[in-house]
Amino acid sequence: MRQKRAKTYKRVMALYTQTFGFRQPFQVLVSQDLLIEGGKSDLNMNKQFLQVTQGECKPMITQCCMEALYKLGKDVQQTTNLAKTFERRKCNHRTALEPDECLKDVIGATNKHRYVLASQSSALRTNLQPIPGLPIIHFNPRGVLVLSPPSTSTIREKNKLEEARRLEGAKELEGVVDGGNVVGASGSNGLGAGLVAAGGRTRKVKGVNPLSAKKKKTKAAPSTSAPSDGNGDEQTDVGKKRRRDDETVVRREEESDVEEGDDAGDNDAAGKRKRRRKKKKSAVGEAIADLNAEAEGRARLDDGGLDGGSGSDTE
Ligand SMILES: [Zn+2]
Repeated sequence: MRQKRAKTYKRVMALYTQTFGFRQPFQVLVSQDLLIEGGKSDLNMNKQFLQVTQGECKPMITQCCMEALYKLGKDVQQTTNLAKTFERRKCNHRTALEPDECLKDVIGATNKHRYVLASQSSALRTNLQPIPGLPIIHFNPRGVLVLSPPSTSTIREKNKLEEARRLEGAKELEGVVDGGNVVGASGSNGLGAGLVAAGGRTRKVKGVNPLSAKKKKTKAAPSTSAPSDGNGDEQTDVGKKRRRDDETVVRREEESDVEEGDDAGDNDAAGKRKRRRKKKKSAVGEAIADLNAEAEGRARLDDGGLDGGSGSDTE
C-alpha cells in the first residue's frame, strides 16, 4: 500500500517538474498548523516531506507563520525549534498577517516561485486550488501526510501546454512538407530549417549514388572500355566524361594494344599495365617503323610488285 502511494506521488510530482518547471530540492512552504499537527505524533518532518514528494525538499516558513508559533508560547516549543531550522521566507509583512493570508500572498496568483504548500488549513487549500501548478500536502484525519491529487486547474493547464506543444510539432511537420520545395525551405523557422536541412541531406544522399557508381565505372573501365570505345564516346554520361579526361592517355594506349591484338583486359594494377604497355608500345612502334621502312624500301625497289603486299601489311 505504501509502495503504491509512493509510486503515485512520484508520478504526480513528475507532472509538476515536467509541466511547471519544478526542481529538486522542492521548496516546501510549511504552515505552522501543519507543523503543530506533525508535532502531535512526534514525526520527523523532514523525512515526511521527502516521502510525500518523493524527492529532496527545502522546508521554508514565513515570518508571519513564525510569529504565530511564538504567540503560542512554550506549548509548541519543540515545533518552534524545528521551524527555526527551516529557511525563513521573508514575506515582508511589517505587521504579521494571519498565517493563511500570509501564505496566500507569498504564493501569489501563479505560484511563480514554484512552492509546495504544506498546510492544515482546509480553507486555505480550497482557496488556492484554482492556482495551476501548486502541489498541496497536508495530514489526513488518520495522521498521514498526503499529497493532494492535482487540481482541475492544474490538469487543465497541463493539457493546454501539451496541446500547444502538439501544435508546435504540427507546425514543424508542415515545415518538413515545405522542405520538399526550395521556397518553403527558405521561409521556415529555426527548428523547421533544421528538419529541412535533414531533407536536403537526403537529397545529397541521392547525389552520392552517381559518385559511387563512378567509382565502379573507373574500376570496370580497363576491361570494358576497350571493346565499347565507340559507344562510350557518344554517351553523354558525366562519369564517363570525367573518366575520359583522366584516362585519355591510358585508353589511347589500350586502343593501340587492341589494334595489335594484345589482351588489354587483364586485371593487373594500373601501374604495371602502363609499364607493360610502354614497353610493348615501344616494341610495337619499333616493329611498325621497321615494317614501314621495309615497305618503303621495297616500294622504292620494286614499284609494281610489292604495292599489294604493303597494303596487306597495314591492314
Ligand atoms: Zn507574512
